[in-house]
Amino acid sequence: MQDMNIRPQERIFRGVASSDGVVIAKAYVFAPWPGEDGFRLPERAIREDEVAGELRRLSDAIARTRQQIQQAQRDLVGKGATRQARILDVQLLTLDDQTFLNEVAAHVRAEKRNVDVVFYNVARKYVMAFSEISDDYMRERAADVRDVLRRVLHNLIGYEHPSLAELDERVVVVAHDLSPSDTAGMHREHVVGMVTETGGPTSHTSIMARALRIPSVVGVASVTEAVHDGDPLIVDGQTGVIIIHPTPERIAEYERKIEEGMKYQALLDTLRDLPAETKDGHAVRLLANIELPDEVPIALAHGAEGIGLYRTEFFFMNREGLPTEDEQFEAYAAVARQCGGKSVVIRTLDLGGDKFVSSLKIPREMNPFLGWRAIRLCLERTDIFKTQLRAILRASAEGNVRVMFPMVSTVQEVISARELIDEAMEELRAEGKAFNENIEVGAMIEIPSAALTADQIALHVDFFSIGTNDLIQYTLAVDRVNEKTAHLYDPLNLAVLRLMATVAHIAHRGDTQTDDVLLAGEPLFRLRRRTSPKRIPVAVCGEVAGNPLLAYLLVGLGIDELSTAAPAISRNKQLVRAISHEEARAIALQALQMDNSQEVRALIVRHLPRLEKVITPAAQ
Ligand code: PEP
Ligand code: MG
Repeated sequence: MQDMNIRPQERIFRGVASSDGVVIAKAYVFAPWPGEDGFRLPERAIREDEVAGELRRLSDAIARTRQQIQQAQRDLVGKGATRQARILDVQLLTLDDQTFLNEVAAHVRAEKRNVDVVFYNVARKYVMAFSEISDDYMRERAADVRDVLRRVLHNLIGYEHPSLAELDERVVVVAHDLSPSDTAGMHREHVVGMVTETGGPTSHTSIMARALRIPSVVGVASVTEAVHDGDPLIVDGQTGVIIIHPTPERIAEYERKIEEGMKYQALLDTLRDLPAETKDGHAVRLLANIELPDEVPIALAHGAEGIGLYRTEFFFMNREGLPTEDEQFEAYAAVARQCGGKSVVIRTLDLGGDKFVSSLKIPREMNPFLGWRAIRLCLERTDIFKTQLRAILRASAEGNVRVMFPMVSTVQEVISARELIDEAMEELRAEGKAFNENIEVGAMIEIPSAALTADQIALHVDFFSIGTNDLIQYTLAVDRVNEKTAHLYDPLNLAVLRLMATVAHIAHRGDTQTDDVLLAGEPLFRLRRRTSPKRIPVAVCGEVAGNPLLAYLLVGLGIDELSTAAPAISRNKQLVRAISHEEARAIALQALQMDNSQEVRALIVRHLPRLEKVITPAAQ
């Protein structure tokens, strides 16, 4: 006899892991667009005398949408999220677009079909046109336009979809995209996972999910068509996998993972207030990378000794126009104040590459990662740069703020940037505004030319931070965002290890060490000696710092600070406390002599304590 209880087939989808953690819960397909989750539009022919009534329905739906958006703005402002509230202004403007509305009206008259279907067809055309425009700002706006038109459509047909704020059970929200208005009121205890079709690691959903510690996977193609409300779902935010209708065996496997993760997290929590010190008494500073001021409490809860990398460009993205000096000051000062006396490294704008801000009109480039980005852009647009430097300097009066330049490729760039800091200081002094006269200045070492001339750069800075995400891509000529070359992106490559070892050596070089770099016993070139013999600290703030295998090697290479996403801090604490610095050093020296990265990996795995525990995913 046939089994009447045939279980739906398990299906596995892959996307981009955007926020760590594993969760099992029911799916909640949010705010569908026609075609998604079986969402269909009513369609009917209308008579001439019904046209006016249909158009009235449309203006009613638009009026209702306007009220909803304004309410969402008030909610956001009430929570202090004024920037997100301003993003919604773009949606309000879309509602006033007369060209669009006239086109819908003309089609209703000509086609004699109900306004719902006509509106959808015209809206879809607009959204597609927006997403194909080569201007980045306009493309970014496609999501906003789609969002607002979807709201009108829902109001038009009376589709009542509760807002995420009204959810009262644990769900994984599955959506094409989630806008700031969608996520504005949602509660962490009900939204336990997020999956979207659009977006990458830096999209709004990803940033929000990380800030709230909600496991999330983004960039999962066609997922809203495959998942239906109530479907059981596993979201693995560590590997970027989602599983629809998981088998009982799969659920058991993931439940074990979650349980292990919870136990592991409880263990890590007990280490939170203990020093990050190796068994032989060597201290390693563990810091957090953040993109938004909202992430500070989570970083501190994980035991961060400070913020090692505050990526300020996110404050410039997803908005109309550039933030003013005062707006920037408020954000930077908020981070500094929350950190008390703990240090906060504010990185100046790192735009270009894969991060764009439309108002800057960065031209399209053949090789954006090699192009007009970060410090290069800032040194030309000194108006923007100086505004930011002034805001950072003012924030330095509110806490332990340090400033750092990204993408340094020559010492001249550091000198020019420092001159602008001097100018900004001069102005602030004249205006009687407070700042720290002795603010520390650092350089990111993420381009091989900077690593190889670190001795010169060290003359002008107080610290280094190695950005391995970029250093690996530039050293190996492997695009960091290209899936096709991902297998070539090898952090253990000898060239990368040598560059990092060189930077650490130069930064820590004492007076007694030789200045000559020798080739076959002959001096090849002479390293510049600092006037002050002070060693300068070296951090690593790229993703590798959160990988136990690499973290072990970095400690062995003499790296002083590891700056990572918050959950990796406690894992690194456990690792550091379990190892001997002397042994890690010996292993690192061996690694620097090895022929290939497989050997290096095997060497570290042999010496890394309790590796399987260390890589267990974080609990929910
Ligand atoms: C890096 O390149 O390693 C880094 C930390 O900077 P970003 O990822 O922002 O380029
Ligand atoms: Mg970088």
